[in-house]
Amino acid sequence: MSFVIFGPPGAGKGTYASILASRLRIAKISTGDMIREEIKRDMDLGKKIVDFVNKGKLVPDDIVIEIVKEAINKSSRKNGFILDGYPRTIEQARALDSIGKIDAVIQLGVPEQVIIARLSSRRICKKCGAVYNLRFLKPKKEGACDACGTDLYQREDDKPEVIRARLRVYESQTRPLIDYYKDKAEFINIECNSVDIPPETIVRRILRELQEKNLIG
Ligand SMILES: [Zn+2]
Repeated sequence: MSFVIFGPPGAGKGTYASILASRLRIAKISTGDMIREEIKRDMDLGKKIVDFVNKGKLVPDDIVIEIVKEAINKSSRKNGFILDGYPRTIEQARALDSIGKIDAVIQLGVPEQVIIARLSSRRICKKCGAVYNLRFLKPKKEGACDACGTDLYQREDDKPEVIRARLRVYESQTRPLIDYYKDKAEFINIECNSVDIPPETIVRRILRELQEKNLIG
């Protein structure tokens, strides 16, 4: 089983990928997580990556593909993998093809106003980084962290105008990839029209579609 999951920022694709991975006993390969882990490990590769991150640059493709390749090789001990956050470009998709075939692309569709509602209600603790949501994960005391009592703030990235810009970047990055995979993989399209659908429900829908397409047993 080899899947790629695409979804706009705030769609919750990391959460769905995690649940799917444990359900199907496949590896969840998140390039974001792996880059953070390499940095933490502070070995040669981590040091190289920190250098790019500190300069505010993207980690170059050849480094990322090496990390992905290693993770895919490791996933052969499991039933396969699901990629979250990769590929982002056609070049990356081509590099991925040279490692192995992608069976299905899982595409999450979430209306812009739903994403804005979800992300713009996110609040973060200034001190401990705990994440709250004014809609479904409210702090006990308004504006203060449950864990440490410190003031909560809104990340610059989570302001509506910034979210809109992030969505446009996502759209322009993803559209060519969808075209690229059109004849190469099966497509699972999942529409999430509300912020309040529990992740379990979405995952159940994805599993059902994968089953209908005989992609899982
Ligand atoms: Zn806190």
